[in-house]
Amino acid sequence: MSDGPRRVTHWIGGAAVPGAGRTGELYNPATGEVTGHVDLATAAEVDAAVAAAARAFPAWRDTSLARRTQVLFRFRELLDRDRDALARLITAEHGKTHADALGEVARGLEVVEFACGIPHLLKGGYTENVSTRVDSYSIRQPLGVVAGITPFNFPAMVPLWMAPIAIACGNAFVLKPSEKDPSASLRLAELWREAGLPDGVFGVVQGDKEAVDRLLEHPDVRAVSFVGSTPIARYVYATGTAHGKRVQALGGAKNHMLVLPDADLDLAADAAVSAGFGSAGERCMAISAVLAVDPIGDELVDRIVARAREIVVGPGDDPESQMGPLITAEHRDRVAAYLDLGVAEGAKLVVDGRRAPIRGGGTAADRPGFWLGPSVLDHVPVGSRVHREEIFGPVLAIVRVPSYEAGLRIINEGEYGNGTAVFSNDGGAARRFQNEVEVGMVGINVPIPVPAAYYGFGGWKASLFGDTHVYGTEGVHFHTRQKVVTARWLDPSHGGVHLGFPAGG
Ligand code: NAD
Repeated sequence: MSDGPRRVTHWIGGAAVPGAGRTGELYNPATGEVTGHVDLATAAEVDAAVAAAARAFPAWRDTSLARRTQVLFRFRELLDRDRDALARLITAEHGKTHADALGEVARGLEVVEFACGIPHLLKGGYTENVSTRVDSYSIRQPLGVVAGITPFNFPAMVPLWMAPIAIACGNAFVLKPSEKDPSASLRLAELWREAGLPDGVFGVVQGDKEAVDRLLEHPDVRAVSFVGSTPIARYVYATGTAHGKRVQALGGAKNHMLVLPDADLDLAADAAVSAGFGSAGERCMAISAVLAVDPIGDELVDRIVARAREIVVGPGDDPESQMGPLITAEHRDRVAAYLDLGVAEGAKLVVDGRRAPIRGGGTAADRPGFWLGPSVLDHVPVGSRVHREEIFGPVLAIVRVPSYEAGLRIINEGEYGNGTAVFSNDGGAARRFQNEVEVGMVGINVPIPVPAAYYGFGGWKASLFGDTHVYGTEGVHFHTRQKVVTARWLDPSHGGVHLGFPAGG
């Protein structure tokens, strides 16, 4: 595979289709240079993608499970074959390190592997004799055309959270990827075609709000899976459901790590730094606030600071780099502004990522590209903006708390409920935390507790609108409708008119 097209197009009916409307710029975040353009779909182009999917749906719905599974297994093999090339494409547009991009592809691959078990996942139930000589059974059927709208931070993994399951269930899937790093979506489309998926079952519309709005209104789109920031998730949920669609909309996060005094502080510091600065903090499961329970605060901060200063920041395609740039100049500036804000709010800036050296020369402040190094704010006041808001960058806020109870209260009073972690060697305390914390995904001595492919991913509160998680068995339920059949085959005892509900027997 080449390093990708300079013009990123739509993918409709099994082929690349150039757009006729606006375009957006693509950057190499490590240099700041414009590297290409992406088509931004008009409503008519969205309609064309949905129409192609709607045409493909009836035959795909009726394709046997044996054949659908073969396509999924082939897709799995191709994804495995091309994981390195896909990761390179991600690094070129997103900026994350190659190793991190490989990790993202690996997580997506696991969902494909889960979807390979679709015959088992679609099994219904059968009950004989629910009434005399009457049997009941359930079947799960696909919805039709479904859409996925995905964020910039995982351009391969998040689409792979959705599409393999939607398609395995017999739906036709239209993806609207982030316009910031859209190339991975086209590679996935090519791999689906190579795997033997019929044209139209997987389509891609590149674009922004205009494309999203059309998908949300389109009468032939039956369901929408969204992953992105909370304000847009809320909007997508409200608009999509108002148009009669099934919607799961995953939003932003502010993930806290609670470090109890008996924790292994080296393990906790390693975890805080890995989970805070991995992918430059642009992960919805990143740790962005560390709650250090007295009296270990100073000791923990010293260890975090020492590690944060050691992180090698540089271009994602440099094998020595541990952390790459941020996605855009605007986002970098927005994240960096939190450092001054934090100080104004009373926090102490103990590591300033603007001064971080960048591999190859210069510092984050003067090197071209969208750079900001690891940053640590200590003594962040509870309830300050730096503490409450999703920063989505390499900024770790340390909040000193007097007790487990105080730390738990802070987490539970937060707006978001995506991920959290407790670090402790006390099994009883950890168990109490897992029971009491109001967050959807909980780590115990694990900082980024992303559930395995067969569980399902989803937070609570403002981190998820809707009631099903993405992937896992909930993903199968989201992408299917249950039908229950009640059957009676005539035998000589039939007959008679009954106007009431059967009273039993
Ligand atoms: P975003 O909300 O800006 O964009 C997400 C998608 O929505 C993109 O496809 C984008 O084109 C579209 N979009 C943007 N503005 C829109 C608008 N006004 N109307 C309609 N559609 C619009 O998010 P992002 O910046 O790409 O991604 C980062 C965010 O995603 C963070 O908040 C992060 O926490 C969140 N995220 C959440 C999860 C999760 O599983 N909960 C996973 C990854 C990322």
